[in-house]
Amino acid sequence: MSTNNVLCETALKPEPDRRNADRRRTNNILYETALKQFDAVAGILNIEDGIRQRMRYPKRSLIVSVPIRLDSGQVKVFEGYRVQHDITLGPSKGGVRYHPNVDLEEVAALAMLMTWKCALMHMPYGGAKGGVQCNPEEMSQGELERLTRRYTTEIVQMIGPDKDIPAPDLYTNTQTMAWMMDTYSMQQGNTVLGVVTGKPLLLGGSLGRAEGTGRGVAYMVMEAARVLYKELRGMRVAIQGVGNVGSVAARLLYEQGCHIIAVSDVSGGVYNPKGILLPYLLHHIKEHRHVNNLPDADAITNEELYELDCDVIIPAAIEGQITGKNADKIKAKIIVEGANGPTTPEADKILSDKKVFLVPDILANAGGVTVSYFEWVQDIQCYFWSEEDVQKKLKDVMVGTFNRVLALSNKKGVDMRTAALMLGIERVAEAKKLRGLYP
Ligand code: NAD
Repeated sequence: MSTNNVLCETALKPEPDRRNADRRRTNNILYETALKQFDAVAGILNIEDGIRQRMRYPKRSLIVSVPIRLDSGQVKVFEGYRVQHDITLGPSKGGVRYHPNVDLEEVAALAMLMTWKCALMHMPYGGAKGGVQCNPEEMSQGELERLTRRYTTEIVQMIGPDKDIPAPDLYTNTQTMAWMMDTYSMQQGNTVLGVVTGKPLLLGGSLGRAEGTGRGVAYMVMEAARVLYKELRGMRVAIQGVGNVGSVAARLLYEQGCHIIAVSDVSGGVYNPKGILLPYLLHHIKEHRHVNNLPDADAITNEELYELDCDVIIPAAIEGQITGKNADKIKAKIIVEGANGPTTPEADKILSDKKVFLVPDILANAGGVTVSYFEWVQDIQCYFWSEEDVQKKLKDVMVGTFNRVLALSNKKGVDMRTAALMLGIERVAEAKKLRGLYP
């Protein structure tokens, strides 16, 4: 609990104490990265100090105990979190993750990234994130359902279609969202479709949502290839993480003629320099849950995947994977960040010096929140769109934003991450200025 207490103090105490708390907080790479990125960009944009301080800290942070009965009959208490970083442009929005490493700092960092991402994509949202520290790989469906329902109940005061709208993230999915929607609705006494996004279709989900993030990632690979004048056909792609995001991106790029030469997950990786037959891979994952022991492929580690001779790398698992230690060994010329925060600032510098074209997380994986926004709009209107409509709108938003980021990157001579952050952060700062400081 100690690191979490630090952030709680940080969120609650006045300015001088915050700075002390800041100095003590050193153990979360993602949080440090998010702050470093924000500070650098706020400096470039010359944001006035008062507004900068308000943007640097989460608006609300909640830690909850989530007690559930395990299948064994024992009671176990998990720790859950929900952080709303900002609500200047609208209700906050962000995923819920179930993972052993989730803590308040990680959730706070991801909530901050969501704020910049929603602003970059011109969505009427602020950023939020949530999670429960648990190991979903070791839990039964029944345990996961009880965990989800109790977690939802514990954060129920914070969420709602006009307040804060959760969505799936690591190890959560449409079923998790169905349980969250049901729990919230039962407590309200009426069905509230818009309280979460990423729901099953039958419960107000949107066509195209399940694959929105992966589809967006695939569009970004296509755009990066266009900028570098590279043929998609035959392009060698390596993907870390073949869950929701990675598997969809892999399938769409495979359909475009790319060779998916390596994939990995929590069990390790597999590599075939001639390209993995994707339908076999997806079937293998369905049957065996993980990629290891895939026939016709060599076993590699997650670390080795990053060093392969390939054209594109898609980190689509967890944060902190490309660091000062391995960035120099990367041979790919394109990196598209499906995961949130996979690259540390030290690695960013090395990659930029090596002229690697990197599409940053807040742009690359924004397809998810974009279709989540479409889902929320459809739920509120109770009017549902065709898949074709969703995909067309998604492509317009993703490609349009890519071009805005690229134009700023070229104009200011900054990398794509800095340009994307500049666009997102500036929009929030402007909105704060217009709204003023309450009271
Ligand atoms: P998921 O749970 O469906 O899949 C995660 C994948 O990563 C799995 O293959 C898992 O085995 C692998 N993985 C987990 N820990 C690993 C480790 N230590 N080393 C290697 N592989 C590991 O999750 P997802 O929804 O596909 O999300 C993946 C990433 O994309 C996360 O960083 C998430 O925050 C980000 N993201 C997801 C969405 C979305 O809509 N799902 C949207 C934006 C960003």
